[in-house]
Amino acid sequence: MEATIISNIQMILAGLTEGRIVHYVMPNGEHRPAIVVRVWRELQEASPGYSNLQVFTDFGNDVKVENREFYNDAEIRSGRLWATSVSYADAGESGLHPPHTWHWPERN
Ligand SMILES: [Zn+2]
Repeated sequence: MEATIISNIQMILAGLTEGRIVHYVMPNGEHRPAIVVRVWRELQEASPGYSNLQVFTDFGNDVKVENREFYNDAEIRSGRLWATSVSYADAGESGLHPPHTWHWPERN
């Protein structure tokens, strides 16, 4: 059974490399497009999908000055978020992806 789970995650993560576009889950649970800029290949076994991303936010609608606990000054100015050490996570039974994770874009 465990071997099946491992091969499923390997199938899901096949093709993960710098330059791919994924969805990043914002603190409020909304999804934003992100480009994979670094894959931590030596850490994939411990944390599947572990990568750094550049997230394209909805600028002022997402990256607000009042949310400074999440965003630094450069991110507030540019609307582009550098999300580091992000693991892959599928939607759980709730259908919701956890914040600060990534997944492949849904088809609808
Ligand atoms: Zn998504």
